[in-house]
Amino acid sequence: MSIERPWRCDDAFSRTRAVIDLAALGHNLQRIRELAPASRVMAVVKADGYGHGALRVAQALAGVDAFGVARVAEAMALRDGGIHQRIVVLEGFSSPEELALVREHRFESVLHHPSQLDMLECSPAGEEIPVWLKIDTGMHRLGFPPAAYGEIMARLSGCAAVTTPVRLMTHLASADEPENPQTAKQLECFRAISRQHPGELSIANSAGILAWEHTHADWLRPGIMLYGISPFSDAVGSDHGLRPVMTLSTRLIAVNQFSRGDAVGYGGRWICPEDMPVGVAAVGYGDGYPRHAASGTPVLVNGVKVPLIGRVSMDMISVDLRTQPGARVGDPVLLWGSELPVEVVARAAQTIPYELTCKLTTRVERIEEGMADVPQLDARTS
Ligand SMILES: *Cc1c(COP(=O)(O)O)cnc(C)c1O
Repeated sequence: MSIERPWRCDDAFSRTRAVIDLAALGHNLQRIRELAPASRVMAVVKADGYGHGALRVAQALAGVDAFGVARVAEAMALRDGGIHQRIVVLEGFSSPEELALVREHRFESVLHHPSQLDMLECSPAGEEIPVWLKIDTGMHRLGFPPAAYGEIMARLSGCAAVTTPVRLMTHLASADEPENPQTAKQLECFRAISRQHPGELSIANSAGILAWEHTHADWLRPGIMLYGISPFSDAVGSDHGLRPVMTLSTRLIAVNQFSRGDAVGYGGRWICPEDMPVGVAAVGYGDGYPRHAASGTPVLVNGVKVPLIGRVSMDMISVDLRTQPGARVGDPVLLWGSELPVEVVARAAQTIPYELTCKLTTRVERIEEGMADVPQLDARTS
């Protein structure tokens, strides 16, 4: 005989978890290959794979042509984890010690600043380093000015530590804005230099891959779209045929009945307009849920959309359950995933989805799914 209880008891009670769908990663990679069949793919897994777990992402994407990370330490973590494929350090080395690590572990380095050239020229002959020479075509962040191309190439050709021909790359500042003339200008600038360049070329991030066919070149550098997320502010991943990789969920840990006029949460910013049930879900900014998510931000309780109310606290959020009077403690709460795109939550929190997935904290349990469906899984790395 089971007793009707006002709560649900199961093993996943109140666990706040991010399910990482590794099969979706494979699907998104396939989508990229369809969009640019002639180009090679450097899968960008910096910032712990945009919060998805760099090592497991790299294992699931073992069939790509290279991995891209921002820092030498990130490249080291992948090597230590058994990733034997090519790894490109997008910020390059920043000290002679890092340069030594690049050599020792056979990383490839972006070269964007004269200080790095000085270090290369001072380093003893030995293992050669594959270099990606970065040109600043208008983003004005990292890269050599276009006018310096000839001089840098001359210096590099006299440098015993460098593999030739070097690859040439640039980064787009506004590819996520299809109307912005900046991308065409950057492309024109890059073309003028690359016409004389003997090595491979790379321009495109996710927005370039999706919106600017002329940026595809020899090497693509997709990040966000691998994770099933759109780089555009007015779209979601499924608009591009992508599948979201991360699903963030938790449970209701309280359902309370409040009266008209009662104020909910810190600062009492949200006032009950009538007598109503309010749910409390076990997720907050201590898990990486954005504190700036406004009242009205959608949350799914039992698969039904309800609005967040009041301020997000460290461990909890409150939700309006008027449309779900039957909701009980233990019911599932989805913060983002296939049924509720992270892009939508990001907009409600006045940020970008990149930040939301990156900011998940270690308190959130990561659970992998779908590995068996990933065809390129490499047994040596697991
Ligand atoms: C992060 C990064 C990318 C990937 O950008 P997405 O917008 O996530 O596709 C590509 N290239 C460089 C140099 C980067 O730093």
